[in-house]
Order: sequence, then structure tokens, then C-alpha cells
Amino acid sequence: MGIRCGWCLGIALAVIMDAAPARAQDTQISSSTVILPMRPQPGSTVQVIVNTQATVRFEQRAYPSFALPGGMWRALLPLSALLKAGDYPLQIEKDGIIATRQLPVASRSFGLQRLRLSPDRAGLEATPTEEAAISTALSTVSPEQLWRMPFARPVRGRISSKYGLRRTYNGVFAKDYYHRGLDYAAPRGTAVVAPAAGRVALVGTVQQGFKLHGNTLVLDHGQGVTSIYIHLQKILVRAGDVVKLGEKVALVGSTGRASGPHLHWGLYVHRIAVDPADWLQGQICCKS
Ligand SMILES: [Zn+2]
Repeated sequence: MGIRCGWCLGIALAVIMDAAPARAQDTQISSSTVILPMRPQPGSTVQVIVNTQATVRFEQRAYPSFALPGGMWRALLPLSALLKAGDYPLQIEKDGIIATRQLPVASRSFGLQRLRLSPDRAGLEATPTEEAAISTALSTVSPEQLWRMPFARPVRGRISSKYGLRRTYNGVFAKDYYHRGLDYAAPRGTAVVAPAAGRVALVGTVQQGFKLHGNTLVLDHGQGVTSIYIHLQKILVRAGDVVKLGEKVALVGSTGRASGPHLHWGLYVHRIAVDPADWLQGQICCKS
């Protein structure tokens, strides 16, 4: 981690100036802003590091910044797997002053899964209960950063489906679908641990109406970062509990619409599923 932090600081010093910003204040914000990684891809978590508390706007959404040790502020921007490659404007706003930067998003291709579903399974959708509860839990933005890098693997087992996979159902391409997490193959009853410290934001069960996701657990890691585990056999924590990195929180199962026992882990940043692999590898810079 020390090496990565050193690398990040190196980048932080290599500040990139905008070509022709309109005003002095815009220039000040823009020239002090560091955007990492420099060439993100769909699924990346982008860090916008600014020398003041500012709001970052990207693709019609606003993202808050939080204080880092040392006086800088950071906003986390999630890039969906559905984002097309290209240059995107990104606005940094402070007290009505707006600095604009370009975010060059590289192309990335994800695999395709061809699924055949029987009519009864194809028709199974999330109930309003689970949809509302999960949406609320994934929208949590608590100010304290509880995670430390890198994240830990949530379960022992091989990855059976990667992040971002697209699908066809019975030969029809699912337009807005992408696999919003990683699937780990593991026997029923295998221990599932917290990938980082957090607070339990949601415990949802089949009995409560979680028919598609099955037994569901959401952890709030702070500052808009949340994890979701679905298809669990059993959940060992309660809403509001604070959990440590590596703490056993649940058991692998196949509840809900699962073809067999496995763990689906989704990592969300401000409600958009990003590639957990970046967080497992510590590519989201530094301790804080
Ligand atoms: Zn999955």
C-alpha cells in the first residue's frame, strides 16, 4: 500500500493545467484538481481530489466531496459498465464558481452470457419491498470513511462470474443489464466476511418478501460506498451493527433467483455498481 500511496502522491504533484479556463477562480480550482485514474474505464471508480470542499457534477448527477488528511477534499465518481468510451465534461463547483475538466473514458469490453430461462424463472422480478429497501440502503451516504484499502475477498472460492458481463435471455439482448458485481462459487454454508469495515444498513429476508435477491445484506462503508451480498443462506448480523474488516457476517446460500449456491457481491458508489476488482487490488488510492 505504501508504494501505491507514493505513486498517487507522484501523480498528485503532476498537476495538469487546463488550456484556457475563463476566470482566475476557475483556474485555481481546476489547476489544483487531481483526477485518478488518468484514463478510467467503464466500471472504474474515479477520484476527484480538490483543494477545497466542492461538488463534482458528472452525467447529470452531483457528487459530494469529503475531507482527506492533509487538507484536500475528495469526491468519488462511479462509472457504470454501460458508459460508452469518450471524453466527458466534468464540473467542479464551489460557491457558484464552476471549473470544467474533461474525463477521457477508455473503451472496455465485457463478456456475454447467453442464458436460457424457463418462463416461470424469466418472469420472476424483484418485489416492491425488496426494490425499495435495497435502493434506500444503497443510497446511504454517511460522512465517515470506514473502509481502508485494499478491500478483502468476501469469501473463499473462485470467481464464477466477473463484473460487467452482459446477457441475452432466450436469445434477446438485455439492453440495460450488466452484472453488477462478482460471483464467487462456494458451498452452501461457507463463511462470508465483511470486505471492509462498515455499518449494517440492511438485513432483508425471503420471509420479508426478498424473492429475487433472497436473503440480502447491505454494508455501508461510508462516503457513499456500500456492499451488497445476496442469495445468502443465513445473516449473522443485525441492522445498525458495526462490523470490522474480515468479520464473519453471513453464510453462502442459494435463496432467491440463484441457480446454485454462490455469493454475489456488489460494490456500489453512490448507487452505481463499480468493479470490485479495483478495490480488491487497492487501486482506489491510499489509506483515506
Ligand atoms: Zn451475480
